[in-house]
Amino acid sequence: MEIKITKTDHSKLDQVDFDNLPFGQISSDHMFVMEYDGTSWQNARIEPLRTFEIHPSNLALHYGQSIFEGMKASINREGIPMLFRPELHAQRMNASAERMCMPTIDPEFFVEAISALVNLEKGWIPQEDGSALYIRPFMYAIDHFLGVRPSITYRFCIITLPVGPYYAKPVSLLASDTYVRAIPGGVGEAKTSGNYAASLYPSKLAQEQGFDQVLWLDGHEFKYVQEVGTMNLFFVFEDEIATPDNNGAVLKGITRRSFIEILRDKGHRVTERPISIDEVFDAHAQGKLKEVFGAGTAAVASTVGHIAHLDRKIDLDATANPIARFLKAEIDGLRAGTVEDTRGWTMPALAPAQV
Ligand code: PMP
Repeated sequence: MEIKITKTDHSKLDQVDFDNLPFGQISSDHMFVMEYDGTSWQNARIEPLRTFEIHPSNLALHYGQSIFEGMKASINREGIPMLFRPELHAQRMNASAERMCMPTIDPEFFVEAISALVNLEKGWIPQEDGSALYIRPFMYAIDHFLGVRPSITYRFCIITLPVGPYYAKPVSLLASDTYVRAIPGGVGEAKTSGNYAASLYPSKLAQEQGFDQVLWLDGHEFKYVQEVGTMNLFFVFEDEIATPDNNGAVLKGITRRSFIEILRDKGHRVTERPISIDEVFDAHAQGKLKEVFGAGTAAVASTVGHIAHLDRKIDLDATANPIARFLKAEIDGLRAGTVEDTRGWTMPALAPAQV
């Protein structure tokens, strides 16, 4: 499908203060849009960013058919905009779509649409190390209908936002013994909006108690560690680096997958297995818990400083964290083009004619 491009004649780029980029607030000039008519995707276009009208009976508003992705583009040393494993984001978007009864998108076209938009917006990619153009592809139902059934029509859209470097301080986590994020058979593996809405109230309670985020435990026994906010978790136990297995209730993070591959290539023993919260506390008591960190597109690797559960708490020395530090440098370096990409994970975001 051809992508029709209409450029803005009043760019906002010269009004942006690239030294001060609050996350999530500044959008670039253009967006990609197309609609699904019940049979196929139509009218693929890049146009100036604008608001959409929403009918009061919009199905997504009432019943939540809404999914999204989150990825980043960076600019390499040659000034070429680069994407990181975009085909995996296409796959995950389609997995989310299938789970939510929404139409899939040809993965090659998904990557082509992102490339075309990012290429057009390359002036919006911040240059500073660790900064990036955040890319948000999303899809939502657009039928006007009240009643619980899948929508027939949908809109798919991509917007991009310049974001500054993420100076992550060590995070403190509260393992919830009351609220759950997901259970196998639910929608925890889908990147669907309702998962995030459901996390807001428990997160608010955790913040009121002085924690940054909730550490989600499994919904059957409140025993096994799942993930945190928008990050998967890694635990360094002496000579083993462990991460919770994908049991249908954890988002399959692309940073998580990349970390596992990098660490295994380096000869580390990485396991994907059930990790109980008791094991984490016991390992810490025995001096065997060396590092805990989160893995996600936003912060890449985020060190964990504190974990609380019931009436117990552990404090970790999050200042050293050699494994998390190495992984962050590796991914940031791959994106910037300063670490050689031997695995073919990065790809240039080319304009449609160049594809
Ligand atoms: N878990 C959740 C719930 C998330 O929203 C994210 C962010 N997409 C992640 C984990 C990390 O995934 P990724 O590495 O693909 O960004």
